[in-house]
Amino acid sequence: MKQNYLITPIDYLKGVGPNRADLLKSELKIFTYNDLLYFFPFRYIDKTKYHKISELENTNSNVQVIGKFIDIRHSDSSKFKRLIGVFSDGKGEIEIVWFKGIKWIEKSIQINKEYVIYGKLNWFNNKFSIIHPETEILEKHNKSLKNSLLPIYSSTESISSKGMNNKLFRDLVYNIFEKSGKTFSENLNKNINEKYALISKYEALYNIHFPKNQLLLSKAQFRLKYEEFFFIQLQFVFKNLINKNKFKGFNFYKVGDFFNNFYQNNLEFELTNAQKNVIRDIRKDFSSNAQMNRLLQGDVGSGKTIVALLSCLIAIDNNYQTTIIAPTEILAQQHYNGIKNSLKGLDLNIKILTGSTKNKDRINLFNELKNGEINILIGTHAILEDKVVFKNLGLAIIDEQHRFGVAQRSKLWKKNTTPPHILVMTATPIPRTLAMSVYGDLDISIIDELPPGRKPIKTVHRTDKNRLQVFRFLKDEILKGRQIYIVYPLIEESKTMDYKDLMDGYESIEREFSKDKYQISILHGRMKNEDKAYEMNRFKLKETQIMVSTTVIEVGVNIPNASVMVVESAERFGLSQLHQLRGRVGRGSENSFCILMSKDKISNDARTRIKTMTSTNDGFKIAEVDMNLRGPGNILGTQQSGLLNFKIADIIKDKDILDIAREDAKNLIKNDPQLRNADNKEIREEYAKLNKNSILWKHIS
Ligand code: ADP
Ligand code: MG
Repeated sequence: MKQNYLITPIDYLKGVGPNRADLLKSELKIFTYNDLLYFFPFRYIDKTKYHKISELENTNSNVQVIGKFIDIRHSDSSKFKRLIGVFSDGKGEIEIVWFKGIKWIEKSIQINKEYVIYGKLNWFNNKFSIIHPETEILEKHNKSLKNSLLPIYSSTESISSKGMNNKLFRDLVYNIFEKSGKTFSENLNKNINEKYALISKYEALYNIHFPKNQLLLSKAQFRLKYEEFFFIQLQFVFKNLINKNKFKGFNFYKVGDFFNNFYQNNLEFELTNAQKNVIRDIRKDFSSNAQMNRLLQGDVGSGKTIVALLSCLIAIDNNYQTTIIAPTEILAQQHYNGIKNSLKGLDLNIKILTGSTKNKDRINLFNELKNGEINILIGTHAILEDKVVFKNLGLAIIDEQHRFGVAQRSKLWKKNTTPPHILVMTATPIPRTLAMSVYGDLDISIIDELPPGRKPIKTVHRTDKNRLQVFRFLKDEILKGRQIYIVYPLIEESKTMDYKDLMDGYESIEREFSKDKYQISILHGRMKNEDKAYEMNRFKLKETQIMVSTTVIEVGVNIPNASVMVVESAERFGLSQLHQLRGRVGRGSENSFCILMSKDKISNDARTRIKTMTSTNDGFKIAEVDMNLRGPGNILGTQQSGLLNFKIADIIKDKDILDIAREDAKNLIKNDPQLRNADNKEIREEYAKLNKNSILWKHIS
C-alpha cells in the first residue's frame, strides 16, 4: 500500500462523483478513504446460509435458496398483472412473484440456469412464495461478496433520497479495498497483538465490512473496539500525568476560623458519612501541591451544595477567593440566597453575577472582585467571561456540570496565573465505568447516600381518565400544607405548540383551583429573569401553592416543602429528565409523590421509561436503563463532552474490553512514559495522528 493511500480525498474514489462527494462530506463527515473505512455497518444480514426449499418454515423471515426456474408464466387469475416463476431446488418448489418490471424480468431470467434467490418468505394460496427477491446467477454469486454477512450501513434522509443506498456503500467500500493492497499500517504493538491474538489492521477493516463468517466478524469487532478504547484511555492516562506533574496547585494547608465557626455554629445538620468522605478527598487534594480536578457525583438531593460551601470556606481560610457557577439564573439565585442565609453571622462578602446583573452593579462588583474583597462569587456563565477578573481565585466550583461543556471548564483554568482548584458537581448518575471514560481526566468522588429521614418518593403513572382523581389528590395535599409542581414539556422543535400546551394547561389549572382558595405561580423561559425570580420567590415563601412550569425548574431547584411533582405528557420526556424533575420533591421529611401523566396510547420505549420511574428511585439504575434504550452517546450531557462518539465500542456492552484496554494503556505509559521504545513506534504515530493539535501531544513530542 502506498503510504498515503488511505488519506486520499473521497472525491477520487471510483463511484464517487462531485455530488456524492459533497453529500458524503456534509452528511456523514466522510472526507477520505479512511473515513469511509471507519464508517462501519451497524448490522449484517446473514447470507452465509442456504435453505432447502423442502425445509422452509418461517414466513416473514428472510431466506436464501439455490435452484432453477423450471417455469415462468403470467397470471391471468387476478386483475393485477403478475409474473410467476416456479423455482425448484430438485427436492421442493416455491413461487417467485413479480408485480413490476415484468417485461424486463421475463426477458432476463433464464430457464434451467442456476440462481441464488434471497427474499422474505410468504405463505399465500397454500404455497410458499417470495415477492420481488434479489436474484443472482449462482456463478456470479460465488464470485461476488454476496455470499457473506452483508453489511448494512446507517443512512440519513438526504443521503437515501439522493439514491445512495446500501448497495452503493458496499460497492464504494469495496472499491477502496480493490486498490489498497493487503496491508494497512499497524497501530498497536507486538505485545498487545500477541496477547489477544489480534487479527491485522487490514483483516479487521476488511472483515468489519465484508465478514466471511461470524468468527472473523467477531475478531474484527474485538480488534476495532479494543483500539478505540485503548487510544482514548491513553489520552486519559496522559492527561492525568500532565495534571499531576505539570500544574502546580495552591496549597490550602489550614482549616481556619471560617470553616470552624460555620461548622460549629451554622451547620444545621450532621453531615452524612458520604459527605464527610468527599470533604476528606477534597482536603487531601487541597494540600497535595497539585491542582485539584475533581468530579463530585451525587444523586439529586444527596446534598452536594453543602460540600461546595465547606470547600469554599477552606479556600477562604487560606486567603483565596472562590466562585460557584450554575447553569441557570434560577439556580444561581437559589444558591446565592441559600448560601448567604447559611453564612449568616460570618464576616464574608458574597456576590452574585448573572446575565441580568445591572451595569452599574457590575462596575462595583468587578472592582471588589479585583481588589479581593469578594470571598464567594456566585453566578452563571457570565462569570466565565474574560472581563471577570479575580484578585486571587483559589477554587472554582461548577454545579450541574453536565450542562456545561469541556471548553467552559477549561476557561476557569485561566482565571488565575496558577490555575485554581476545580470541583465540578453533577447529579447525572453515570455508572463508574462510563464516568471514567467521559471524565477520565478528573478524579471522582461519589455521594452514595441520601441525608437521613428522607422517605422514598412514591411514583405513579396516570392517564387523562384519572385527571379528576389526580386533582382531588392535589387538593388534599395542599390542604395538608404541601406545595405542588406541575411541569409541561418544552421541546425546541415544537416550541410554539408547547407554549400553547403550557398556557392551556395553566388555564385549566386556574379553572380547577379557584382563586379564592389557591394561588398559582407560572414559570417559563420566555419570562424576564426578574419575573422568574419573583415567581420563584413567591413559591418559596409559600405564597403560592402550585407552580406551573416548563423544565426550567429541572435542575437544582430546592424547595423542601414542595412534595408533589406532576409531569404532564410524561411520555415525551427522557429518563434522565424525569429523574431530575422527580428530584425536585422528596427534599423534606414529608411523604412525597411524583405523578406521571400521559396519553393512553404511548410507544413501547415511553412505557419502559415510565415503568422504570414507577419501579425505582435509584438514579444509577435509571441511568442503566436509559443507556440501554438510547446508547451511551445520548445520555444527558455526555454528548457535549465530545468523548463519547465511539464508532464501534459500547461502554456498557463492551465493558470487559474497556477494562483491559485501560489496564494496558496504564502499563504502557508506566514502562515507556514518552513512547520512545522502538516497539511502540506505531502506537506513538497513531497517538500523534489523533492528538495532533492538543497539549497532550506536546507532552510527549
Ligand atoms: P443536591 O445534591 O441535589 O444539590 P442539595 O445540596 O440541594 O442537593 O441538598 C438537598 C437538601 O438536603 C437541602 O435542603 C440540604 O439542606 C439538605 N441536606 C444536605 N445535606 C444534609 C444532611 N447531611 N442532613 C440533612 N439534610 C441535608
Ligand atoms: Mg444541587
